[in-house]
Amino acid sequence: MPKTVDDFMRQVAEKNPGETEFHQAVREVAESILPILPRHPDFAQEEILERMTEPERVLMFRVPWLDDSGRIRFNRGFRIQMNSAIGPYKGGLRLDKSVNLSILKFLAFEQVFKNSLTTLPMGGGKGGSDFDPIGKSDREVMRFCQSFMTELSRHIGPDTDVPAGDIGVGAREIGYLFGQFKRVKNAFQGVLTGKGQDWGGSLIRPEATGYGVVYFAGEMLKQIGEGIKGKTCLVSGAGNVAINAARKINQLGGKVISLCDIHGAIYDPAGIDEEKLAWVEELVFKRRGFLDEYPARFKAEFWPQRNVWHIPGAELAFPCATQNELPLASAKELVANGIRLVCEGANMPSVPEAIHLFHESGVLFAPGKAANAGGVAVSGLEMSQNAQHLSWTAQDVEDKLFNIMCSIHRTCVSTAAKYDAPGNYVVGANIAGFLKVARAMLDQGAV
Ligand code: GLU
Repeated sequence: MPKTVDDFMRQVAEKNPGETEFHQAVREVAESILPILPRHPDFAQEEILERMTEPERVLMFRVPWLDDSGRIRFNRGFRIQMNSAIGPYKGGLRLDKSVNLSILKFLAFEQVFKNSLTTLPMGGGKGGSDFDPIGKSDREVMRFCQSFMTELSRHIGPDTDVPAGDIGVGAREIGYLFGQFKRVKNAFQGVLTGKGQDWGGSLIRPEATGYGVVYFAGEMLKQIGEGIKGKTCLVSGAGNVAINAARKINQLGGKVISLCDIHGAIYDPAGIDEEKLAWVEELVFKRRGFLDEYPARFKAEFWPQRNVWHIPGAELAFPCATQNELPLASAKELVANGIRLVCEGANMPSVPEAIHLFHESGVLFAPGKAANAGGVAVSGLEMSQNAQHLSWTAQDVEDKLFNIMCSIHRTCVSTAAKYDAPGNYVVGANIAGFLKVARAMLDQGAV
């Protein structure tokens, strides 16, 4: 007798009490996978899905550092090594005050399926700390990163576990982390991705997640004989993913009318063009400022403490900020305003009830684990370049990224159709991501 989703989730919840984000991510996958297990009895018998919910290893450690006044501070560091069936653990590091075990386990779990979809040999992991980079000086960030890596360096390596960036970890932090790894290990290795271009990084890695999201949306629209050109878009967030998604939308002839950060949302009906995006990029990554400065520079409205989903006049929506940023009430606003496609740049930005409403209302919906896989895919390409001691041109990498996004799209569509859920990208991504990892786990026995 196959388990029901509720039975399955009861066991997960008992074993992982209080980890609500982790439960949310597991439930979404279980809803896609449990119904297909009768077609794959081996997977049920060998408890593949159950084993996938148990991280191979969880590292938790103290990260002491000195602030600028010389006072000792400490945070909690984590690395979740979730699944290595198809390759070394791979996934970002997040520095944000909201980070805890539940958030990182949900991200690591999602990463397993996402990495499987990329077609590249990467297992899944995630890590980070509850260190809050906001308001910290460069020197404080450096001292934190060095302390974090002093411990993490014992557990990672180019064939073991290859971290990268995520929220709060960009070029600056990867530089400090890499420098400390090299120092304590006395080894110049491709142990992180998202590195600087002069020391082993890949061209297009910074742009990859955002570009990939828009390529994915383009493929979804192609299915109905349309494209990005001429479409008005809502983008949320103001980090690396949001900025580069907006950039690619502009390049493909679309118009972006919104962005947001922790202080609020901007609405710029004239469109956030490349000049404005370059200014936002400098504001966020150089001056470490916030979007409330935008209306003083460009004509726009600023809504303090609001998200972007209430803004009317858009056909496409790209949630590129963070998990659960799109609640049901916002999904209702989007549907009422005539949204036609939602393509996730962030990890799990839409709550389950919102996804349900999109499906019911005929809105094309792509989950982050498929649509935002371009970032980790180009991380995989960075690993390939490092292993070969060479670097490819920007055009080369972008062509490969485009082909990978098309391949992920095709896989989602064909898998959903094969498993009786045509057009359902959630089901397609979950099943396709699962099958590859499940087969590898079966082949490798009880490890
Ligand atoms: N943090 C990114 C993600 O969510 C990238 C991970 C990587 O490049 O390893 O996929």
